[in-house]
Parts: sequence; structure tokens; C-alpha cells
Amino acid sequence: MSIDQRRRVRVDRHQFLEYTTQCPFCNTSVGPRFVTREHLDVPPDPPYAATVKCPKCTEIFEVMFTDAQP
Ligand SMILES: [Zn+2]
Repeated sequence: MSIDQRRRVRVDRHQFLEYTTQCPFCNTSVGPRFVTREHLDVPPDPPYAATVKCPKCTEIFEVMFTDAQP
């Protein structure tokens, strides 16, 4: 898997909110606390993606919420 692919992970938003998502680089559990930016789609939809900075390895990656994808 390329580094670019690892920088974009698809997760269930509810799992993300419960910190069951793992950093693709070091497997540290990440959640909303480590979001640096939410990507808002057309209102009133919830955010469909977020930028996350891992608290351990400090890698930055995109989390795409599968339940918000068409
Ligand atoms: Zn990490």
C-alpha cells in the first residue's frame, strides 16, 4: 500500500467517535479529539471527512466517513 493510500482511511463515523479507529501508521487509537479540521459537505449533512493528526507519531491523514458517502 502506498503512502498516499495510507493517508486516506475509510471508517464508520460512529466507530471514529468511539475511538476505535487506528492510525494507519502506528495503530494508535484516534478519535474526534485529534481532528484538526472537519470537511463540511452541503448542509445539513454531517461532516463527511476529517483531517486527523495522530497524537503519537504526528502523521496527518484523512478520515473518510463511510456512512456519509453516497
Ligand atoms: Zn500514528
